[in-house]
Amino acid sequence: MTDFTATKAMFHLPEGVIYLDGNSLGPLPRAAAARVARTITQEWGDMLITAWNRAHWMEMPARVGDRVARLIGAEPGTVVMGDTLSIKVYQAIASALEMNPARRVILSDTGNFPSDLYIADGLVRTLGDGYELRTVAPEEVENAIDETVAVTMLTEVDYRTGRKHDMKRLTEKAHAMGALAVWDLAHSAGAIPVRLAEAGADFAVGCSYKYLNSGPGGPAFIYVAPRHAETARPALSGWLGHEAPFAFDLDYRPGRGIERMRVGTPPILQLAALDAAMDVWDMTTIEEVRARSIELTQLFIARVEASCPALTLASPRDPELRGSQVSFRHPEGYAIMQALIARGVIGDFRAPDILRFGFTPLYIGPDEVEGAARILAEIMDKALWDRPEFKARARVT
Ligand SMILES: *Cc1c(COP(=O)(O)O)cnc(C)c1O
Repeated sequence: MTDFTATKAMFHLPEGVIYLDGNSLGPLPRAAAARVARTITQEWGDMLITAWNRAHWMEMPARVGDRVARLIGAEPGTVVMGDTLSIKVYQAIASALEMNPARRVILSDTGNFPSDLYIADGLVRTLGDGYELRTVAPEEVENAIDETVAVTMLTEVDYRTGRKHDMKRLTEKAHAMGALAVWDLAHSAGAIPVRLAEAGADFAVGCSYKYLNSGPGGPAFIYVAPRHAETARPALSGWLGHEAPFAFDLDYRPGRGIERMRVGTPPILQLAALDAAMDVWDMTTIEEVRARSIELTQLFIARVEASCPALTLASPRDPELRGSQVSFRHPEGYAIMQALIARGVIGDFRAPDILRFGFTPLYIGPDEVEGAARILAEIMDKALWDRPEFKARARVT
């Protein structure tokens, strides 16, 4: 059994704060601060450029990728780190489209994160030639996968409501219809068990600064199924995805397997932070984290529904149908969230009316859940949110 007191001690959490936003930016793992400091002084500082070899910087994207692979049910050697998630979405859908040349449609849903949709829209415009992004309501995705669809591009867990798609079922449907399945695991990796290989996913992508705690701007990951690894053509053919970057050939030849999905120079300081952040997974399993997350989210829903009748649950009630977050709706959601933050309960707001709370058992337990629900009830009871300073919108919500 996991000792969640011990996992919590691995993180720096400011005094007096209940942090329910690890789904947006994970907190600082203590080991990451020390590791980054060491990477800066002993590697960058003392080894200078020789650290690419001597400190094995060049291997880091695949080595750390393998650690992420274990959490998402991917085979060894199928995941590589680098760039931001938006870039990795582009790479995955561009490669997948090219593997299904007789078709022109990317299918996604209206609950997807806008960046994924913007990237897909940009790609189909670049391609022209009848390429199209088609979006349907999340619950209509399964029926909308037909023989015109080249690629499905779905985010497993909805960023607003936490609603979870059935990855295996939708991947099977995509394959039955002759389409390829690209999955975005932004709100899955480190939050819920993911079994990419078992589900038969073709490509997957995700970020590391949410539930994997790599820090702001930490690198994203991309997964390519082994059956495609030597055939997928990288659309962003950068030198570090080349078979022999230091041959400096004028012609591009894709690297071996997943290495070809690298683009340019990797962010070594952020990779060092992520590598250290991954150590916490040696103390627990994603299955135990998931079981605890369900307890915490059920407890939060029960407490909030009992004491805040003005808030409407926006997440699926059945924990099997949602990820590790709980959302409530209220027309004054933004002001309510600012009032919560002023009292030390940090969640976030997603337009137009969603109060979003992430539950991360590595460092959040039942006491924090009870505390957050109590403060929320007080804010609602006394309308403490109804003040001008809580209604002025900040740039990041
Ligand atoms: C968080 C998130 C992103 C963010 O992309 P970045 O390039 O890392 O800024 C993209 N897609 C989804 C589904 C997300 O949840």
